[in-house]
Amino acid sequence: AKEDGGGGFQVFTEEMGARAAKMLTMQHKLRRALDRQEFMAYFQPQVDIATGAIIGCEALARWQSPDDGMVPPGVFIPVAEECGLIDAICLQILVDSCRWIAEWRSRGLPEITVAVNISGRQFHNSRQLMSIVEQTLADAGVPPRQLELELTESSAMNDPENAINVVRMFRDRGVACSIDDFGTGYSSLSVLKRFPIHKLKIDRSFVMDVTNDPNDAAIVQAIVALAHALNLKVVAEGVETLEHLEFLRSVRCDTIQGYLFSRPLPGEAMAEFLAQGKPE
Ligand code: C2E
Ligand code: CA
Ligand code: CA
Ligand code: CA
Repeated sequence: AKEDGGGGFQVFTEEMGARAAKMLTMQHKLRRALDRQEFMAYFQPQVDIATGAIIGCEALARWQSPDDGMVPPGVFIPVAEECGLIDAICLQILVDSCRWIAEWRSRGLPEITVAVNISGRQFHNSRQLMSIVEQTLADAGVPPRQLELELTESSAMNDPENAINVVRMFRDRGVACSIDDFGTGYSSLSVLKRFPIHKLKIDRSFVMDVTNDPNDAAIVQAIVALAHALNLKVVAEGVETLEHLEFLRSVRCDTIQGYLFSRPLPGEAMAEFLAQGKPE
């Protein structure tokens, strides 16, 4: 028993050590990447289900690493959250997004909204977030109506009183907020009702199986009905197939986002997408 216990402990500490070492290496790489401004936004179109028109897009963080190529956010966002670099990274995404909005404007492309993801931590430091957003919009010469902020359901419900206030402050300044990954957290409907948001985004995990799993189909249908009852628009994410699209149309979902229409695109490719108007 002693041997087992000792061995188990040793493995545990080695794993801990390896994990800590990995964290430190990653943290160091992220700091350097921040200095070199290697973080950029990709844009995934959001399409009006009724007309097929592009009405907006979501900005998604990418890290163009000289060592590892294009690194997806799943790899670096969790580490960045843990070591406190998330704010700085999201600032680069916000700045890059506004720079592209201004560029698309200057080329006379159709005006769309760009939704930027905001971490729970940033939402908590609301004054700082507010002044950064206002400054970035002003520097880029972008009207607030073209920016949207996405807050996950779990961070919104973590401290609803604060979140409601922050959402209201942004709304008063012309920046709309939406609740992301809806269905994965635990919203109280009485709290949801008080959020001055204009959109719910249904999490991909529900959309994925709508055509096979009657429970997921029922959940998606219920979320759309709930949102409409509260006068909110609904965006479904992770729409990959025509079957997904047909189901979402049948339950009167408003907007879709997913690989069926487009993967997230670099700013220049998004400009071409906008110039074509409708995808087809
Ligand atoms: P999210 O906000 O739920 O973003 C949607 C994710 O779904 C994106 O992954 C997108 O590329 C992916 N996606 C879109 N359509 C489809 C589809 O049809 N099929 C499949 N399988 N996937 C699809 P991505 O870009 O890897 O981002 C992952 C997550 O990282 C995001 O999830 C978001 O939580 C976080 N993230 C990304 N950028 C930022 C950022 O700038 N700030 C913060 N705080 N988080 C970010
Ligand atoms: Ca999002
Ligand atoms: Ca989402
Ligand atoms: Ca999601």
